[in-house]
Amino acid sequence: MEKEKLEEARMVDVHAHLDEIEDLSRSLQEAKAAGVMGVVAVEMDIESNKKILKIAEENNGYVYPALGHHPWEMNEKEVEENLSFIQNHIHECVVLGKIGLTSCL
Ligand SMILES: [Zn+2]
Repeated sequence: MEKEKLEEARMVDVHAHLDEIEDLSRSLQEAKAAGVMGVVAVEMDIESNKKILKIAEENNGYVYPALGHHPWEMNEKEVEENLSFIQNHIHECVVLGKIGLTSCL
């Protein structure tokens, strides 16, 4: 892409594990400075789903949560607990992520 067009591009990070970033505030500031207009934060399990809802609330209008359950995390009790959590909070997320479709392709 030409440099001028890249500078005009609107960028959105559609897959970021923000709960794993040590200095999240600094990372989000750097993303904004680089022209990233928003971040969709994907999650792995119930604990990270809870964390990302809090991060999204703290960064309203910039971080958008994608609740989910990674297929590598298939403890039956945790799956049921997480699915219930997702169902109760689905109105707070913009998309479901980590639902195993990529492993089926
Ligand atoms: Zn991922």
